[in-house]
Amino acid sequence: MLSALRTRGPLTRAQLAEQTNLSRATLSSIIQTLLSKQALAERRGEDPAGPGLRGRGRPVSVLTLNPAGGLALGIDLGQRRIQVTISNVAHEFVASGAIACAERTPWVRRVELALDLVDNLTTRHEISLTALAGVGVGIVGPVAADARSERVELVRETVSAWFGVPVYVDNNTRLAALAEAVWGAGSGVDSALYLRLSYGVGGGLVLGGRLFAGAGGAAGELGHISVDRDGPACPCGGRGCLERYVSLTTLQAQCSDILDARDQTARDLLADAGTRIGEVLAAACNTVNPEVVVIGGELAETGDHLFKPLEAALRRHTHSQVHRTVRVTRAALGPDAAARGGIALVLTTALSALDQEASRLCIPPRPSTSAGTGGTPSTR
Ligand SMILES: [Zn+2]
Repeated sequence: MLSALRTRGPLTRAQLAEQTNLSRATLSSIIQTLLSKQALAERRGEDPAGPGLRGRGRPVSVLTLNPAGGLALGIDLGQRRIQVTISNVAHEFVASGAIACAERTPWVRRVELALDLVDNLTTRHEISLTALAGVGVGIVGPVAADARSERVELVRETVSAWFGVPVYVDNNTRLAALAEAVWGAGSGVDSALYLRLSYGVGGGLVLGGRLFAGAGGAAGELGHISVDRDGPACPCGGRGCLERYVSLTTLQAQCSDILDARDQTARDLLADAGTRIGEVLAAACNTVNPEVVVIGGELAETGDHLFKPLEAALRRHTHSQVHRTVRVTRAALGPDAAARGGIALVLTTALSALDQEASRLCIPPRPSTSAGTGGTPSTR
């Protein structure tokens, strides 16, 4: 149950019952125990968006983890921007800030800039990091699940030495995917496919509230699905990858006003890009059958000029059972999405001590499903 609150954020009692599969009486007794131990806090809140939602916006009583129970820090070491966001375990964002950095800034320097930013934010907002539970860091480029990468090791070791807490590193687009699934356009769903259309094209897959890594940590690399076997070579080693055709870099080379939909050339290029993207998404949707496809990045801001041809192609090429259930939507979070994803990674991965406490206090759920390990799929 603690794990559900940590991964999903504030929940009503009804939502908790749905998430944990516990009876009302059992749940009520566990909640009382945890409230008395101050592991939980109860407050009046807006009905949080999520499973079993009724009467959105109406004030209701929601349960959260005790906000004093710990902090999580998210850092995004982006291509041109460094973002830091701090949240408590009750999903309240307590500080956030960003600075620009040059594209070729070395990794050591990027980490230093991020640590300076953390220092500034904690001083300005009088935040003590003594209760810091972990740090989630997003970086550009692939992060293999097992292989040792100098870049990843440098980031992990420097940040971990600085704060003395567990540090989790992942690709920043994948972290943005996780954040959209927790707080953004995919909030409350169990399966979300995320596609980011920017200077590069990346993606991520979130299943049961958790980022799905795949065997090598590359699940959701939609930008490197080949759309033309005779197409241009791609740095990934492939040929004719989607990214070669629909990245902002490629499109801007053909039309500098690509984001200005008043331009007819831009509109034609966007329509063509939308169709290509829709075809690739169709294959991905037939494989995963997600509840929602979330599209982020600068190109998503062109709206219907991209989305209409995209959705038409997606529906044309998916199985009827797949396109009947999928919803395509624009990303809801801003430029701090990847840093928030770092926080979500800490909340879903770290803090295992709380999980142990939960399993000690909780009577095993019926039937013996995965309740208590977080992200229990709910059926709606
Ligand atoms: Zn490629």
